[in-house]
Amino acid sequence: MRVPQLPRMSFAQLPTPLEEAKRLGEALGGPRIFLKRDDLTGAGLGGNKVRKLEYVIARAVAEGADTLVACGGYQSNMARITAALGARAGLRVELVLGGMAGESRAWQGNLLLDRLYGARVHFIETERRWEFGSALQDLAAELTRQGRHPYVIPLGGSSPEGMASYINATDELLGQLSAAGVRADHLYVAVGSGGTFCGLALGAVNAPAPYRLVGISVSRGAGFLRERVVADSAAAAGVLQVARTPQASDFAVYDEYIGPGYGALTKGCVEAISLVARTEGVLLDPVYSGKAMHGLMDHIRSGKVSRDDTVVFLHTGGSPALFAYDPDSLSPADVQPHTPGASG
Ligand SMILES: *Cc1c(COP(=O)(O)O)cnc(C)c1O
Repeated sequence: MRVPQLPRMSFAQLPTPLEEAKRLGEALGGPRIFLKRDDLTGAGLGGNKVRKLEYVIARAVAEGADTLVACGGYQSNMARITAALGARAGLRVELVLGGMAGESRAWQGNLLLDRLYGARVHFIETERRWEFGSALQDLAAELTRQGRHPYVIPLGGSSPEGMASYINATDELLGQLSAAGVRADHLYVAVGSGGTFCGLALGAVNAPAPYRLVGISVSRGAGFLRERVVADSAAAAGVLQVARTPQASDFAVYDEYIGPGYGALTKGCVEAISLVARTEGVLLDPVYSGKAMHGLMDHIRSGKVSRDDTVVFLHTGGSPALFAYDPDSLSPADVQPHTPGASG
């Protein structure tokens, strides 16, 4: 199913590869695992936001914008990719990055790239995560007073246009599975703002897809997300003129793998990052895909995913954030630095 004509710019390298992760599947004791490599969408070092921004930036340009205003955490992938694609589209980029007291603002990882891509960064300290108050509107009003034409991108680019990109991605994936003669039982993905998941849910119920869609939350509670996904997908279906809307029974969401909170490392996340790096030479990220892979690994261990099943894991990107973490906390104990010639 294709969504109706919407303005769209071409930024992503598509289709992204669908690769079987044989050594990972063996290490986990059986299920066939395929990685859908949306970390390789290319522009701005890739990730799921590139697909979304093809639509979101096209809309901004159609509305006459000369400046993109985006928000996120200090290590936001959304901010980094908006900075890169804004540069490519000839737009200025202003980033409002919120974090809680004590969070590192070191110019590493995504923050370094925001600067290299030429975006202007505004830091704010928030009491609760993702509560930007009026900061975005205030900045937009200030830019307007200066004669600029700002376009404010919603958190995660999760507008109906952003979701449309993952209806298309569903089509792309189903085409690849059918060409490979593979029938998938599950599609696993990380859930943040939920826009990617809404698009995948809309794509799956309308295709219809053979697999069950499973989301692993990295921040919010499963009950809250279930309601939001149903409501936001229904709203998007209206705008996009898509026939069917997902019900809560059409997908599953889990919130057991968040740990202490958004962006905070967990043992399971570190193990997942390390296992995938060592078996496949593929980098996950500490905020989203590492936790989603921990969820999948745990579901295989507990039998929720059986050894005869076939799983697609949507790799949404995010590896630049690895460089903002302490190396010792990211690498398991068996990998110690070794200096040849040193004794003791
Ligand atoms: C933003 C992001 C997600 C989550 O996507 P949402 O549409 O916000 O749910 C997952 N993985 C990575 C790497 C991201 O940057």
